[in-house]
Amino acid sequence: MRPVKDLQSISGKTGVVTLIGNPVAHSLSPLIHNEAFRLTGLDYVYVAMPVHPDRLREAIVGLAALGVKGSNVTVPFKQQVHDLIDRTSDQAKFIGAVNTLIFDYEDDGYTIRADNTDIDGFLQSLKLQESNLRNTTAVVLGAGGAARAVSYAILKEYQPESLTLVARNVEKGLVAADVLSTVTEETNISVTSFEEAGEQIRNSRLIVNATPVGMEPWEDSTPWENSADFHSGQLVYDLIYAPAQTRLLKEASKRGAETMNGIDMLVGQAAASFKHWTGVDMPVREVIACLQNYLDSNG
Ligand code: NAP
Repeated sequence: MRPVKDLQSISGKTGVVTLIGNPVAHSLSPLIHNEAFRLTGLDYVYVAMPVHPDRLREAIVGLAALGVKGSNVTVPFKQQVHDLIDRTSDQAKFIGAVNTLIFDYEDDGYTIRADNTDIDGFLQSLKLQESNLRNTTAVVLGAGGAARAVSYAILKEYQPESLTLVARNVEKGLVAADVLSTVTEETNISVTSFEEAGEQIRNSRLIVNATPVGMEPWEDSTPWENSADFHSGQLVYDLIYAPAQTRLLKEASKRGAETMNGIDMLVGQAAASFKHWTGVDMPVREVIACLQNYLDSNG
Protein backbone atom coordinates (compact mmCIF):
# COMPACT_ATOMS: atom_id res chain seq x y z
CA MET A 1 0.00 0.00 0.00
CA ARG A 2 1.18 3.49 -0.72
CA PRO A 3 2.37 5.15 2.52
CA VAL A 4 0.73 8.48 3.30
CA LYS A 5 1.70 10.82 6.09
CA ASP A 6 -1.13 11.12 8.56
CA LEU A 7 -2.49 14.47 7.39
CA GLN A 8 -3.39 15.49 10.95
CA SER A 9 0.28 15.25 11.86
CA ILE A 10 1.14 18.07 9.45
CA SER A 11 1.63 21.16 11.58
CA GLY A 12 3.11 24.63 11.37
CA LYS A 13 6.49 23.04 12.06
CA THR A 14 6.42 20.48 9.25
CA GLY A 15 9.34 20.92 6.85
CA VAL A 16 8.56 20.92 3.15
CA VAL A 17 10.70 19.39 0.40
CA THR A 18 9.68 19.57 -3.24
CA LEU A 19 10.36 18.20 -6.69
CA ILE A 20 10.31 20.72 -9.53
CA GLY A 21 10.16 19.65 -13.15
CA ASN A 22 7.74 19.16 -15.99
CA PRO A 23 6.14 16.65 -16.06
CA VAL A 24 6.29 15.37 -12.48
CA ALA A 25 3.07 13.35 -12.21
CA HIS A 26 4.85 10.03 -12.94
CA SER A 27 7.61 10.62 -10.37
CA LEU A 28 8.35 8.00 -7.71
CA SER A 29 10.25 10.53 -5.56
CA PRO A 30 7.22 11.50 -3.40
CA LEU A 31 6.68 7.83 -2.57
CA ILE A 32 10.37 7.28 -1.76
CA HIS A 33 10.82 10.36 0.42
CA ASN A 34 7.48 10.27 2.22
CA GLU A 35 8.08 6.62 3.09
CA ALA A 36 11.55 7.54 4.36
CA PHE A 37 10.09 10.40 6.45
CA ARG A 38 7.52 8.00 7.88
CA LEU A 39 10.13 5.33 8.69
CA THR A 40 12.48 7.81 10.36
CA GLY A 41 9.73 9.77 12.11
CA LEU A 42 11.01 13.03 10.61
CA ASP A 43 8.42 15.82 10.44
CA TYR A 44 8.66 16.55 6.71
CA VAL A 45 6.48 16.18 3.63
CA TYR A 46 7.62 15.84 0.01
CA VAL A 47 5.49 17.33 -2.75
CA ALA A 48 5.97 17.20 -6.54
CA MET A 49 5.35 20.53 -8.29
CA PRO A 50 5.02 20.95 -12.03
CA VAL A 51 6.68 24.19 -13.08
CA HIS A 52 6.04 25.90 -16.41
CA PRO A 53 9.29 25.88 -18.45
CA ASP A 54 9.29 29.71 -18.54
CA ARG A 55 8.79 30.09 -14.78
CA LEU A 56 11.86 28.39 -13.32
CA ARG A 57 13.32 31.55 -11.80
CA GLU A 58 10.02 32.51 -10.17
CA ALA A 59 9.64 28.98 -8.84
CA ILE A 60 13.08 28.93 -7.19
CA VAL A 61 12.70 32.40 -5.68
CA GLY A 62 9.22 31.36 -4.51
CA LEU A 63 10.48 28.18 -2.86
CA ALA A 64 13.11 30.19 -0.98
CA ALA A 65 10.52 32.78 0.06
CA LEU A 66 8.32 29.97 1.37
CA GLY A 67 11.14 28.51 3.44
CA VAL A 68 11.29 25.05 1.88
CA LYS A 69 14.18 22.89 3.13
CA GLY A 70 15.18 21.60 -0.27
CA SER A 71 14.10 20.39 -3.65
CA ASN A 72 14.83 17.82 -6.28
CA VAL A 73 15.16 19.04 -9.84
CA THR A 74 14.19 17.00 -12.86
CA VAL A 75 13.69 17.39 -16.62
CA PRO A 76 13.77 19.99 -18.19
CA PHE A 77 15.55 22.04 -15.50
CA LYS A 78 18.60 19.94 -14.56
CA GLN A 79 20.95 22.13 -16.62
CA GLN A 80 19.01 25.41 -16.60
CA VAL A 81 18.99 25.74 -12.84
CA HIS A 82 22.77 26.35 -12.73
CA ASP A 83 22.46 30.15 -13.10
CA LEU A 84 20.06 30.46 -10.17
CA ILE A 85 22.17 28.93 -7.43
CA ASP A 86 24.95 30.17 -5.19
CA ARG A 87 27.17 27.10 -4.83
CA THR A 88 27.40 24.00 -7.00
CA SER A 89 29.15 20.81 -5.86
CA ASP A 90 32.09 19.49 -7.86
CA GLN A 91 30.03 16.40 -8.72
CA ALA A 92 27.21 18.48 -10.21
CA LYS A 93 29.74 20.59 -12.14
CA PHE A 94 31.37 17.46 -13.43
CA ILE A 95 28.12 15.90 -14.61
CA GLY A 96 26.86 19.25 -15.92
CA ALA A 97 23.46 18.75 -14.30
CA VAL A 98 21.81 19.35 -10.92
CA ASN A 99 19.24 17.11 -9.24
CA THR A 100 19.22 18.43 -5.67
CA LEU A 101 18.88 21.90 -4.14
CA ILE A 102 19.55 22.69 -0.49
CA PHE A 103 18.21 25.99 0.90
CA ASP A 104 20.17 27.52 3.80
CA TYR A 105 18.45 30.38 5.63
CA GLU A 106 20.08 33.16 7.60
CA ASP A 107 18.50 36.21 9.26
CA ASP A 108 19.22 38.42 6.29
CA GLY A 109 18.47 36.04 3.44
CA TYR A 110 19.28 32.65 2.04
CA THR A 111 21.76 30.73 -0.05
CA ILE A 112 21.03 27.83 -2.39
CA ARG A 113 23.46 24.95 -2.80
CA ALA A 114 23.19 22.42 -5.60
CA ASP A 115 24.37 18.85 -5.99
CA ASN A 116 23.95 15.88 -8.28
CA THR A 117 23.49 12.70 -6.25
CA ASP A 118 23.53 10.20 -9.16
CA ILE A 119 27.18 9.29 -8.50
CA ASP A 120 26.43 8.46 -4.86
CA GLY A 121 23.26 6.64 -5.90
CA PHE A 122 25.05 4.44 -8.41
CA LEU A 123 27.84 3.55 -5.94
CA GLN A 124 25.37 2.83 -3.18
CA SER A 125 23.46 0.47 -5.50
CA LEU A 126 26.60 -1.52 -6.34
CA LYS A 127 27.48 -1.78 -2.65
CA LEU A 128 24.06 -3.31 -1.99
CA GLN A 129 24.79 -5.83 -4.75
CA GLU A 130 28.21 -6.65 -3.24
CA SER A 131 29.73 -7.38 -6.66
CA ASN A 132 33.50 -7.47 -6.95
CA LEU A 133 34.28 -4.97 -9.67
CA ARG A 134 37.80 -3.93 -8.78
CA ASN A 135 40.24 -3.76 -11.74
CA THR A 136 37.42 -4.70 -14.03
CA THR A 137 36.57 -3.81 -17.60
CA ALA A 138 33.49 -1.68 -18.14
CA VAL A 139 31.24 -0.45 -20.93
CA VAL A 140 28.72 2.36 -20.53
CA LEU A 141 26.04 2.76 -23.19
CA GLY A 142 25.18 6.45 -23.65
CA ALA A 143 26.98 9.76 -23.25
CA GLY A 144 24.47 11.91 -21.35
CA GLY A 145 24.31 13.01 -17.70
CA ALA A 146 23.71 9.54 -16.26
CA ALA A 147 26.52 8.04 -18.37
CA ARG A 148 28.92 10.66 -17.01
CA ALA A 149 27.79 10.04 -13.42
CA VAL A 150 28.10 6.27 -13.74
CA SER A 151 31.48 6.49 -15.49
CA TYR A 152 32.83 8.87 -12.85
CA ALA A 153 31.68 6.50 -10.09
CA ILE A 154 33.22 3.45 -11.80
CA LEU A 155 36.54 5.24 -12.38
CA LYS A 156 36.80 6.59 -8.84
CA GLU A 157 35.67 3.51 -6.97
CA TYR A 158 36.88 0.56 -9.06
CA GLN A 159 39.88 1.83 -11.09
CA PRO A 160 38.93 -0.37 -14.09
CA GLU A 161 41.52 -1.47 -16.62
CA SER A 162 39.39 -0.01 -19.36
CA LEU A 163 36.15 1.94 -19.70
CA THR A 164 34.39 2.33 -23.04
CA LEU A 165 31.64 4.82 -23.72
CA VAL A 166 29.30 3.64 -26.49
CA ALA A 167 27.65 6.69 -28.03
CA ARG A 168 25.36 7.19 -31.00
CA ASN A 169 26.89 10.64 -31.21
CA VAL A 170 30.60 9.82 -31.01
CA GLU A 171 31.55 13.52 -30.86
CA LYS A 172 29.49 13.89 -27.69
CA GLY A 173 31.09 10.72 -26.33
CA LEU A 174 34.56 12.17 -26.96
CA VAL A 175 33.67 15.32 -25.01
CA ALA A 176 32.49 13.17 -22.08
CA ALA A 177 35.63 10.99 -22.30
CA ASP A 178 37.80 14.09 -22.27
CA VAL A 179 36.19 15.26 -19.02
CA LEU A 180 36.38 11.74 -17.55
CA SER A 181 40.08 11.47 -18.33
CA THR A 182 40.68 14.05 -15.58
CA VAL A 183 39.39 11.57 -12.96
CA THR A 184 42.23 9.05 -13.31
CA GLU A 185 45.24 8.23 -15.41
CA GLU A 186 45.03 4.54 -14.52
CA THR A 187 42.21 3.63 -16.90
CA ASN A 188 42.19 3.40 -20.65
CA ILE A 189 39.07 5.41 -21.59
CA SER A 190 37.76 5.01 -25.14
CA VAL A 191 34.69 5.92 -27.16
CA THR A 192 33.02 3.87 -29.85
CA SER A 193 29.83 3.79 -31.89
CA PHE A 194 27.09 1.20 -31.31
CA GLU A 195 28.03 -0.41 -34.64
CA GLU A 196 31.59 -1.10 -33.48
CA ALA A 197 31.15 -1.98 -29.82
CA GLY A 198 30.68 -5.79 -30.08
CA GLU A 199 34.15 -6.76 -28.95
CA GLN A 200 34.10 -4.40 -25.95
CA ILE A 201 30.69 -5.72 -24.88
CA ARG A 202 31.85 -9.35 -25.13
CA ASN A 203 35.05 -8.64 -23.19
CA SER A 204 33.57 -6.51 -20.42
CA ARG A 205 32.69 -7.61 -16.91
CA LEU A 206 30.35 -4.64 -16.29
CA ILE A 207 27.91 -3.26 -18.88
CA VAL A 208 25.69 -0.32 -17.93
CA ASN A 209 22.81 1.00 -19.99
CA ALA A 210 22.63 4.77 -19.47
CA THR A 211 20.33 5.41 -22.45
CA PRO A 212 16.53 5.53 -22.22
CA VAL A 213 16.22 2.70 -24.77
CA GLY A 214 13.90 0.00 -23.39
CA MET A 215 12.01 2.31 -21.08
CA GLU A 216 8.20 2.33 -20.90
CA PRO A 217 6.43 2.64 -23.32
CA TRP A 218 9.25 1.36 -25.57
CA GLU A 219 9.71 -1.97 -23.76
CA ASP A 220 10.20 -3.84 -27.04
CA SER A 221 13.45 -2.04 -27.78
CA THR A 222 16.92 -2.74 -26.44
CA PRO A 223 20.13 -0.69 -26.66
CA TRP A 224 22.04 -3.90 -27.53
CA GLU A 225 20.42 -6.16 -30.14
CA ASN A 226 23.07 -8.89 -30.25
CA SER A 227 22.27 -10.75 -27.03
CA ALA A 228 24.80 -13.48 -27.96
CA ASP A 229 27.46 -11.03 -26.70
CA PHE A 230 26.30 -11.57 -23.09
CA HIS A 231 27.57 -14.45 -20.96
CA SER A 232 28.09 -15.59 -17.38
CA GLY A 233 30.64 -13.61 -15.41
CA GLN A 234 29.15 -10.31 -16.62
CA LEU A 235 27.01 -7.85 -14.68
CA VAL A 236 24.52 -6.11 -16.97
CA TYR A 237 23.08 -3.09 -15.21
CA ASP A 238 20.17 -1.14 -16.72
CA LEU A 239 19.55 2.27 -15.12
CA ILE A 240 15.93 1.98 -16.24
CA TYR A 241 13.50 0.91 -13.49
CA ALA A 242 10.20 0.91 -15.41
CA PRO A 243 9.79 -1.79 -16.57
CA ALA A 244 11.71 -3.57 -13.82
CA GLN A 245 12.90 -6.18 -16.33
CA THR A 246 13.84 -4.52 -19.59
CA ARG A 247 14.37 -6.53 -22.74
CA LEU A 248 18.12 -5.95 -22.25
CA LEU A 249 18.03 -7.51 -18.77
CA LYS A 250 15.83 -10.44 -19.82
CA GLU A 251 18.13 -11.32 -22.71
CA ALA A 252 21.34 -10.90 -20.69
CA SER A 253 19.92 -13.04 -17.91
CA LYS A 254 19.00 -15.78 -20.38
CA ARG A 255 22.62 -15.84 -21.52
CA GLY A 256 23.83 -16.33 -17.93
CA ALA A 257 24.80 -12.76 -16.99
CA GLU A 258 23.99 -11.28 -13.58
CA THR A 259 21.52 -8.38 -13.98
CA MET A 260 20.41 -5.30 -12.08
CA ASN A 261 17.80 -2.62 -12.74
CA GLY A 262 17.70 1.06 -11.78
CA ILE A 263 15.58 0.81 -8.62
CA ASP A 264 18.49 0.62 -6.17
CA MET A 265 20.18 3.60 -7.82
CA LEU A 266 16.93 5.55 -7.77
CA VAL A 267 16.67 5.03 -4.02
CA GLY A 268 20.44 5.54 -3.59
CA GLN A 269 20.38 8.97 -5.24
CA ALA A 270 17.29 9.88 -3.21
CA ALA A 271 19.10 8.80 -0.02
CA ALA A 272 21.95 11.22 -0.76
CA SER A 273 19.46 14.08 -1.27
CA PHE A 274 17.62 13.07 1.91
CA LYS A 275 20.88 13.25 3.87
CA HIS A 276 21.53 16.77 2.53
CA TRP A 277 18.13 17.99 3.75
CA THR A 278 17.78 16.16 7.04
CA GLY A 279 21.28 15.05 8.11
CA VAL A 280 19.77 11.57 8.60
CA ASP A 281 20.53 8.32 6.73
CA MET A 282 17.62 7.01 4.71
CA PRO A 283 16.68 3.42 5.64
CA VAL A 284 17.51 2.34 2.11
CA ARG A 285 16.60 -1.34 2.23
CA GLU A 286 13.15 -0.67 3.71
CA VAL A 287 12.47 2.06 1.16
CA ILE A 288 13.53 -0.24 -1.70
CA ALA A 289 11.16 -2.91 -0.37
CA CYS A 290 8.30 -0.38 -0.26
CA LEU A 291 9.04 0.82 -3.79
CA GLN A 292 9.29 -2.75 -5.08
CA ASN A 293 5.93 -3.52 -3.49
CA TYR A 294 4.37 -0.47 -5.06
CA LEU A 295 5.79 -1.27 -8.51
CA ASP A 296 4.72 -4.93 -8.26
CA SER A 297 1.14 -3.98 -7.45
CA ASN A 298 0.95 -1.08 -9.92
CA GLY A 299 3.13 -2.33 -12.75
P1 NAP B 1 20.36 12.14 -21.24
O1 NAP B 1 21.27 13.10 -20.60
O2 NAP B 1 19.26 12.60 -22.13
O3 NAP B 1 21.28 11.08 -22.04
C1 NAP B 1 20.73 10.00 -22.73
C2 NAP B 1 21.82 9.34 -23.57
O4 NAP B 1 21.23 8.24 -24.27
C3 NAP B 1 22.41 10.27 -24.63
O5 NAP B 1 23.78 9.97 -24.80
C4 NAP B 1 21.62 9.88 -25.87
O6 NAP B 1 22.31 10.08 -27.08
C5 NAP B 1 21.47 8.39 -25.65
N1 NAP B 1 20.35 7.86 -26.44
C6 NAP B 1 19.06 8.28 -26.41
N2 NAP B 1 18.32 7.54 -27.29
C7 NAP B 1 19.18 6.66 -27.85
C8 NAP B 1 19.03 5.65 -28.84
N3 NAP B 1 17.85 5.40 -29.40
N4 NAP B 1 20.12 4.93 -29.19
C9 NAP B 1 21.32 5.17 -28.62
N5 NAP B 1 21.52 6.13 -27.69
C10 NAP B 1 20.47 6.86 -27.31
O7 NAP B 1 19.61 11.25 -20.13
P2 NAP B 1 20.20 10.79 -18.73
O8 NAP B 1 19.76 11.73 -17.68
O9 NAP B 1 21.63 10.52 -18.92
O10 NAP B 1 19.36 9.43 -18.48
C11 NAP B 1 19.59 8.27 -19.24
C12 NAP B 1 18.76 7.11 -18.69
O11 NAP B 1 19.17 6.81 -17.36
C13 NAP B 1 17.26 7.39 -18.60
O12 NAP B 1 16.56 6.21 -18.94
C14 NAP B 1 17.05 7.73 -17.16
O13 NAP B 1 15.73 7.43 -16.71
C15 NAP B 1 18.04 6.79 -16.50
N6 NAP B 1 18.46 7.26 -15.17
C16 NAP B 1 18.17 6.47 -14.11
C17 NAP B 1 18.57 6.87 -12.87
C18 NAP B 1 18.24 6.00 -11.68
O14 NAP B 1 18.32 6.50 -10.55
N7 NAP B 1 17.91 4.76 -11.85
C19 NAP B 1 19.25 8.08 -12.68
C20 NAP B 1 19.55 8.86 -13.81
C21 NAP B 1 19.14 8.44 -15.07
P3 NAP B 1 22.42 11.55 -27.75
O15 NAP B 1 23.47 12.22 -26.94
O16 NAP B 1 22.83 11.26 -29.14
O17 NAP B 1 21.07 12.18 -27.62
